[in-house]
Amino acid sequence: MIVQMRHGATQAQSEKVINFLKEKGFEIKDVSSDNVIIFGVIGDTKYLNASDLEAFSGVFQVTRIQTPYKLVSRQFKSEDTIIHIKDDIYIGEGYFEIIAGTCAVETKEITEEVAKALVSNGVKILRGGAFKPRTSPYSFQGLGVKGLEILNEVKNKYNLVVVSEIVNEKDIPAFEKYVDVYQVGARNMYNYELLKALGKKTKKPIILKRGISATIEEWLMSAEYILSSGNPNVILCERGIRTFERYTRNTLDIQAVLAVKELSHLPVIVDPSHSSGKYTMIEKLSLASLAVGADGVMVEIHPNPEFALSDGAQSLKLDKFSHMVKELNKLKKGLKK
Ligand code: PEP
Ligand code: MN
Repeated sequence: MIVQMRHGATQAQSEKVINFLKEKGFEIKDVSSDNVIIFGVIGDTKYLNASDLEAFSGVFQVTRIQTPYKLVSRQFKSEDTIIHIKDDIYIGEGYFEIIAGTCAVETKEITEEVAKALVSNGVKILRGGAFKPRTSPYSFQGLGVKGLEILNEVKNKYNLVVVSEIVNEKDIPAFEKYVDVYQVGARNMYNYELLKALGKKTKKPIILKRGISATIEEWLMSAEYILSSGNPNVILCERGIRTFERYTRNTLDIQAVLAVKELSHLPVIVDPSHSSGKYTMIEKLSLASLAVGADGVMVEIHPNPEFALSDGAQSLKLDKFSHMVKELNKLKKGLKK
């Protein structure tokens, strides 16, 4: 961290800041020039807020050099984290997994139909929301624990693993029983109490979706909450961000995959369903995600999207899903993934 005092700031003012920092155990390196007092703060500055130092009179500007996150940073751990899901299923650099299923768990029959489509296409990870954080309180809210039980029954029958979204800490015991991979949705990326609870209470992998208007740094800070609370198994998921464009539901920030790979060692996957909001775009966006280096995609599919209880417009029909998997496999071969 670099502290720059105002031109004309007094020695007494800078000493006050320096003493404050030294008392906290930081080393100070003077790099003053052109009659302006400038000094570097050396040490682990993650507990230090730049804006707190700007409260001292005479301070002009405080610039952070280290990232505010540590455990998720590539500066802290340079080798890629590869997360073991189960048996031969891994998510991370060198692997590309497809996660697919309905937006919400609706009935056992529908979930089974979807599971069969996964199996026949060699896809091993089933998704389905049992607790749905819907924009409208009048929309279908999910089946709750009953939905988790359906997922569990179907996954056992078809030898799959399941991902489902958690919205409340109190449901952790049910998730521990029924779910292989937790999902934290975009709306809960900022729910730090939930993130801390998950960090403490589960060691299962957690897919952390990017908040609807979150910067990459805020997203990584949310992952830091989970890691610093004790769970290192975080998979980031880019799901589109809100921009001024209204034709698509959100805007897929495909560069975020590259940014995350530069900044962090954690795996990153892409959700083209929630980013585009249109089934017509899912296949091509999935191919783009694979090409750009994502570690997987999570897509919504449905046997009858016209009658889906949520997100039908961004759900692929099962034949289109098969087509997408084939196209991804061709590209994987081409890319030698
Ligand atoms: C979901 O995956 O079903 C979901 C609600 O996604 P998001 O949190 O990205 O909106
Ligand atoms: Mn959905």
